[in-house]
Amino acid sequence: MTPLARHLAARIRAEGPISLSDYMAECLLNPQHGYYATRDPFGAAGDFTTAPEISQMFGELLGLSLAQSWLDQGAPSPCLLVEIGPGRGTLMADMLRAMRAVPGLLEATEVHLIEASPTLRACQRQTLVGRPVTWHDRIDSLPEGPLFLVANEFFDALPIRQFRREGQGWRERHVGLSGDGQLAPGFGPLTAYGMLAERLADTPEGGIVEICPALPPIAGEIARRIARHGGVALIADYGDWRSAGDTFQALKAHAPADPYADPGQADLTAHVDFEALSLAFRAGGAAASAMTPQGVVLSRLGIDARAERLARALSGPALQSHLAAHRRLTDPAEMGQLFKLIACHPAGMPPPPGLDPA
Ligand code: SAH
Repeated sequence: MTPLARHLAARIRAEGPISLSDYMAECLLNPQHGYYATRDPFGAAGDFTTAPEISQMFGELLGLSLAQSWLDQGAPSPCLLVEIGPGRGTLMADMLRAMRAVPGLLEATEVHLIEASPTLRACQRQTLVGRPVTWHDRIDSLPEGPLFLVANEFFDALPIRQFRREGQGWRERHVGLSGDGQLAPGFGPLTAYGMLAERLADTPEGGIVEICPALPPIAGEIARRIARHGGVALIADYGDWRSAGDTFQALKAHAPADPYADPGQADLTAHVDFEALSLAFRAGGAAASAMTPQGVVLSRLGIDARAERLARALSGPALQSHLAAHRRLTDPAEMGQLFKLIACHPAGMPPPPGLDPA
């Protein structure tokens, strides 16, 4: 048993089975043994690779989309450039480099990063060396002001609750102990959860519904700030419109793993419910764009021209890997369709470049 598995087993013996969201939170962010708290999980040597780690083009294009929104909104100064869950800091570094082309933008911009992991904060500090940056534990402590925000593969890391339909009620997924003391998934008592009443209509018997309790407050706070001060938020992640079925998964060394074995040693995620993001943006007083596939957004932002320009300086294996990265980001059979973007923008204005209106 890992130290975290021992800690969880002791907690379950004392308190009884814990919810899936408590399990996920401990596995990812436990200060001593949590997955993000203890390592740099990215890249070929890690457990997964994200879009900004695949190619600089991802950050450059999102940065230029934010820059166009800044110009369209009258170049507010000062303004906040914010990333939630910045990983290694690669996306922010690529955005800042592309934004240098826009006169006045960087001078107007204060960079703020929202990051829970001390290990990754150290990594971000190195990547962004030479640029003043302020770190935050939570979105609430950002200063007020026009907000230009990006989040890639952040919302999929937030803990979820799962419910299995049984007749007119539901049983919540929990994590308990098997006869031999190992962590084991199970289900709690049959309950008529009021918050799931509407999901009885579209969930079959035995079907799973997922809820991310931290999503509405975070997305709502983004929207409140954009409604009040202007700005725009670009959220990229894998997922779909409305949760349906069990999407809880573990990834270790780029391969699927058992999420209940070796807690703290694998990345745990769930698909993001873009309908929940859209509802929270509107409840916060801002507008939401349509959910738009990543491949479509990147093509509209000019990835083909940018890829061709970069290709001119490359040959041999470097050129091959650049061409493969372009395909991986945009091809519907790779990340182009599974990954989606949604924007939060001021009501009464068009969505930012690349995204469809709702
Ligand atoms: N955006 C980066 C990293 C994605 S991984 C990329 O695309 O490469 C998820 C990131 O969110 C990590 O930096 C992780 O430490 C951070 N994170 C996870 N849960 C968090 C939370 N509750 N609060 C703040 N940051 C969190």
